[in-house]
Amino acid sequence: MQTITIKSHQRNELIDVTSQISEAVSQSGITDGLVVAFVPHTTAGITINENADPSVVHDILYCLEKLIPHSQRAFQHSEGNSDSHIKASLTGSSITVMVENSQLVLGTWQGIYFCEFDGPRTRRLMVKVSK
Ligand code: ZN
Repeated sequence: MQTITIKSHQRNELIDVTSQISEAVSQSGITDGLVVAFVPHTTAGITINENADPSVVHDILYCLEKLIPHSQRAFQHSEGNSDSHIKASLTGSSITVMVENSQLVLGTWQGIYFCEFDGPRTRRLMVKVSK
């Protein structure tokens, strides 16, 4: 298993980690198999989406913030970051991608994004490549 360190710079941010995960696959020496990337945090997630037009990332973050605003009177969690927990659950905490000929099997427009919802922070992303 490899651990990638990610430094976020905003409270809500999607960070393209495709190249780091691709590098982890290269370092594993495994040419055909699966790679799992897991986020060990309760206020961050991971997702696969478009990495060609940056306005898609903007629009995803915009809609998540519209759907789940930071403060809502009905929230009970005393830490004040219930929106972060909910957004993390919506995006999920892991992804699995196939590896063929040492390459990630992704669609032409797809990239892998670490999803920060309670930054800025230093985060971990755990990556396991297996045959
Ligand atoms: Zn909390």
